[in-house]
Amino acid sequence: MKLSHRITNINGGGSDGWDVFLKARGMIAEGVAVTELTIGEHDIGTAAPILQEMHRSAMGGHTGYAMVPGINALRDTVAARVQARTGVPTTRDNVIITPGGQAALFAAHTAVCDSGDTALYVDPYYATYPGTIRAVGAVPQSVPALADNAFQPRAKDIAAAAEQGAASLLINSPNNPTGVVYSRDTLQGIADVCKAHDLWLISDEVYDTQVWDGEHISPRALPDMAERTLVVGSMSKSHAMTGSRCGWIVGPEEVIGNLVNLATNTTYGVPGYIQDAASFALNQGPEVEAEVAEPFRRRREKAMEVLAAQNTVTLVPAQGAMYLMLDIRATGQSGDDFANTLLDAHHIAVMPGESFGQAAAGHIRVAMTIDDDRFIAALKTLCAFAADLAKK
Ligand code: PMP
Repeated sequence: MKLSHRITNINGGGSDGWDVFLKARGMIAEGVAVTELTIGEHDIGTAAPILQEMHRSAMGGHTGYAMVPGINALRDTVAARVQARTGVPTTRDNVIITPGGQAALFAAHTAVCDSGDTALYVDPYYATYPGTIRAVGAVPQSVPALADNAFQPRAKDIAAAAEQGAASLLINSPNNPTGVVYSRDTLQGIADVCKAHDLWLISDEVYDTQVWDGEHISPRALPDMAERTLVVGSMSKSHAMTGSRCGWIVGPEEVIGNLVNLATNTTYGVPGYIQDAASFALNQGPEVEAEVAEPFRRRREKAMEVLAAQNTVTLVPAQGAMYLMLDIRATGQSGDDFANTLLDAHHIAVMPGESFGQAAAGHIRVAMTIDDDRFIAALKTLCAFAADLAKK
């Protein structure tokens, strides 16, 4: 039987960038001890008090269908948090709760792109972006953020892409995979292009609690941007709740109203006990978020010391998120070759930069998601391996 082009084309006919990750998982399944520095998953689980609240809610009977846009308590909490952080007036009518940030990315593009519309995104990019855009029937087009420009996208490159006609632009700061936090200038430039070319801005801010250097600025707070910006948020990274699948979109009331129709006809909402737990977690305040972020801050500091002691591997300024982007071009290898040979030789798995787009070629992404000692030992091995390659 014939399947739809839309679903068979989600990966665009190419690799989805997970080859090294899958090879590592295959080795683990065969009993090989692999140090995995691949995916963005904390090495801690969801904190006990959050799980207790989940349990309390479920035992209290919150196990039926929950309200489709989200329960009022969570929508109000998200709205108040966003307003407190950005100063932009925000109410529950600006918020829809989704099954994670990933579902929010899909819903946001569905809201603003028709079939065949061009949807812009920045390369290097989080691995699902082009697939998400194809899944809604739109056409992904990347705009490079170059290593030479510290992976900050330039307004003129976005404008050049937008001139050919586009419905939306997807950005992500703090950024996965580069760890870069977009500066105010970068974001103002992006905002100006969105206004000049009448683009919707979809701003993926799932790492907004993990900023080590500089400040997180939500572009929704820039002048005249609230009416054209959809902010994607999530409990996954801020509260180590990846498996709970709880995220949201913050945007104009009219968009949220339409997204409720989409949710009614697709997900039918998010479980009530998960939403109760999320609301409880957010109301614990920023200290809890800082605690969840702390291991990454600490490991980044330690990693910078290791990297400062050698000169083959260079760190892209890591200002946020749980990753380090390392420039390994001095080895003469591509990110793909380096990641594969490192896995074979030392059983250390990292993501090739090429998995995240051509702009990250010659780089590798290292997730800081294992305990400090093993992380630092793996990083030292990686640097020594790179130094050997560079000598050859
Ligand atoms: N955006 C980015 C940039 C991510 O890295 C991730 C997860 N790795 C997501 C969105 C999706 O997160 P979730 O669906 O768990 O909220």
